[in-house]
Amino acid sequence: MVSRDIYEIFTSFQGEGSLLGRRQIFIRFRGCPLECFYCDTRAARMKDPSLPPARPEKVIETVKELITPDLHSVSFTGGEPLASPDLLRELAERCRGLGLSCYLETAGVDARIFQKLIDLFDYAAIDVKLENHRAVETRGAWKKLYQEEIECIRTSAASGLHTIVKVVIPDDTTSSQIESLCREISDYRIDLILQPLTGIKAPSLELLFDLSATAGRYLGKQVMVIPQIHRLYQDGLGKKMR
Ligand code: SF4
Repeated sequence: MVSRDIYEIFTSFQGEGSLLGRRQIFIRFRGCPLECFYCDTRAARMKDPSLPPARPEKVIETVKELITPDLHSVSFTGGEPLASPDLLRELAERCRGLGLSCYLETAGVDARIFQKLIDLFDYAAIDVKLENHRAVETRGAWKKLYQEEIECIRTSAASGLHTIVKVVIPDDTTSSQIESLCREISDYRIDLILQPLTGIKAPSLELLFDLSATAGRYLGKQVMVIPQIHRLYQDGLGKKMR
């Protein structure tokens, strides 16, 4: 199943955001144009030209084998799925053809591609990269990325998708960063997830209270503070098929 474009396919529980704990099938794409300092899927960031291209029918065979009665949805994750738009479209169409709900996890790197694919998804989890995430090298590139992400959020919410906006919170995050973001998206019905880093650069509880209250001024009860929990699942609970 390992291929140039797909890093892994497996079933587990969603470990982030407002669908935490839901059983999903994860299709992890290879390739991501960003380089966030906290990336925990580095091995999936590069496509591997030495491997054969993905065969959609084989991917779907694996998906079928992983379907369980408690399945919530298929998560298209990465890497960055929007970096492989044709394959993403084909796989999402096939999953919908099987009657499965589709959940897109993206950093919102390209609002135009996102717009073209959005009709295939029921859920969109969009990461917003703050400047201190060091996802790109220059301030100009970061501003462009940020605007693409905001546009994806607006498109998703306006299209009626369950829209989850996730922001990773290192210890140097400021209230003004969160306030600027919330101003941009406060007209939309979204879940805002503040996801504290754990270990190195972990924020204090005091900072999290402050950032959550700041976001709450714009988004009210739609704000949640939830750390990643999938590492807790990894001790034997995640059933992987590569
Ligand atoms: S967007 Fe995701 S996959 Fe890409 S570098 Fe950042 S954390 Fe890693």
